[in-house]
Amino acid sequence: MKTWHMVIDIERCHDCNDCFLADKDEFVENDFPPYSAAQPWHGHRWMNIERGERGQYPIVQTRYLPKPCQHCDAAPCLTEDGAVYKRPDGLVIIDPVKAVGRREIVDSCPYGVIYWNEEKQLAQKCTGCAHLIDAGWTETRCSQVCPTGAIRVVLAEEQEMARLAEAEDLKVYLPELSSRPRVYYKNLYRWTHAFVAGNVAFKDSDECAEGATAVVEHEGQKLGEAVVNNYGDFLIDRLEPGRTYALTVSAPGYRPETREAAVGEDSLTLETVFLEKD
Ligand code: SF4
Ligand code: SF4
Repeated sequence: MKTWHMVIDIERCHDCNDCFLADKDEFVENDFPPYSAAQPWHGHRWMNIERGERGQYPIVQTRYLPKPCQHCDAAPCLTEDGAVYKRPDGLVIIDPVKAVGRREIVDSCPYGVIYWNEEKQLAQKCTGCAHLIDAGWTETRCSQVCPTGAIRVVLAEEQEMARLAEAEDLKVYLPELSSRPRVYYKNLYRWTHAFVAGNVAFKDSDECAEGATAVVEHEGQKLGEAVVNNYGDFLIDRLEPGRTYALTVSAPGYRPETREAAVGEDSLTLETVFLEKD
């Protein structure tokens, strides 16, 4: 049986919030029984875009994590009485009748994607557009409007999805929760990992050290390498944050320079490294 999955490419998201607005357009003031009661005008972000920065001046990147319900297969929010249940196609639904008054459902999600509707005394979240999928749609409202193709709905057999995940190096967010999400991310490293970047110049000429090599090592193991570009910049990505690395910059005819690089959650941009003649 083909089941519901979503693939979100972090590199393609530019925070336009079209997906957020499409979700509002679909669900605010609209009931879709038996899957959802109307979303309130304010306070809910069933498709939420989390935002962050990486690096420091002058090498800075933005990063965005579109975060709907992950429709987990081992979802901690599921209840035995059916107030929160999983459909055969994988979608996790909060029953808008059975879940009334059940505030504890909000806290059951480790991803923080369930919202409380004070007026209706109801926990609510993304339904994966279950009412549209039932009507034959192969998209959600958010995937349909995304202008960069960052969001894809994949209706596929589990083996087919596993092959796609392997081929495109897709990851799930917070795998340590063991909740087995159905939302996969491409280029998730931009959210979960960090870079070390910097600028290199030749001291004798004060010119950019184009062509110099930057290498990052940890405990004697080489983890990344980059060639300095024509602006004198380099960037080495996909590093575990919270570690101190050894960064060595070298160029033929110049003495190699090594720096300690303490890379935090928000990455590290080093001050200019000057290379001196041998
Ligand atoms: S519509 Fe696409 S690009 Fe825009 S915020 Fe959503 S995921 Fe990002
Ligand atoms: S993301 Fe949260 S609300 Fe969605 S299925 Fe997983 S545990 Fe439940």
